[in-house]
Amino acid sequence: MISLNLVLMGLPGAGKGTQAERIVEKYHIPHISTGDMFRAAMANGTDLGKKAKEFMDAGALVPDEVTIGIVRERLAEKDCEKGFLLDGFPRTVPQAEALDEILKDQGRSIEFVLNINVDKEQLMARLTGRRICKSCGSTYHLIFNPPSKENVCNRCGGELYQRADDNEETVLNRLNVNINQSVPLLTFFEEKGILRNVNGQQAIEKVFEDITKLLDQLT
Ligand code: ADP
Ligand code: ADP
Ligand code: ZN
Repeated sequence: MISLNLVLMGLPGAGKGTQAERIVEKYHIPHISTGDMFRAAMANGTDLGKKAKEFMDAGALVPDEVTIGIVRERLAEKDCEKGFLLDGFPRTVPQAEALDEILKDQGRSIEFVLNINVDKEQLMARLTGRRICKSCGSTYHLIFNPPSKENVCNRCGGELYQRADDNEETVLNRLNVNINQSVPLLTFFEEKGILRNVNGQQAIEKVFEDITKLLDQLT
């Protein structure tokens, strides 16, 4: 069986979570989002959650050693044998180097880094209108991708909420932090020849179609 070892990149609001939902459904690989893992840890009040909270609340990055540790553990799990979709990791060059090492030890490597491009103005509009299902994590937008029934998840009937860090002030800080961090990372992947740019400023289904065209080259 062919494995799909993928990384999804793009600034906050680019549509990583939205596309990840569709990618994992079609290709049957687990979606590994470090942001989701940190939020779950916070909600459960674990030590990891306590460590991450102050950084997340400020829109700053959680330290590399903490983040790399949770990804190393997650990639060792059985469901990652047939591939995985990393979302929100790596975000720094040291994280990317650590990922290389982790995968090398497992005798594999990243096939594609899918980089979703969207301009800053559109990102602000997307993030401040984002809503997420409390039960299943599905992503919606008040205007661009509204649920059929206000505040109710189409997939599972769960209640929708707004992330604490999706307010205008934190969003601006997150965008600036991420722009600065992403430039050297994109160069790192470009030099490896695995970077694939995707135009994220299209309808959700069109972005997905472009991604499937790329992935179908691998399968
Ligand atoms: P990320 O995971 O990259 O931060 P999300 O997938 O959560 O981004 O998307 C951010 C917001 O933008 C969500 O409210 C989502 O519904 C909306 N969105 C995602 N893709 C598109 C698109 N192609 N066009 C318009 N809105 C989109
Ligand atoms: P966004 O894409 O909007 O930044 P995420 O859900 O990916 O949101 O991440 C939320 C927060 O979790 C980040 O602001 C950061 O504090 C922390 N985080 C997630 N992934 C990483 C990572 N790879 N390295 C450091 N911190 C991370
Ligand atoms: Zn749901």
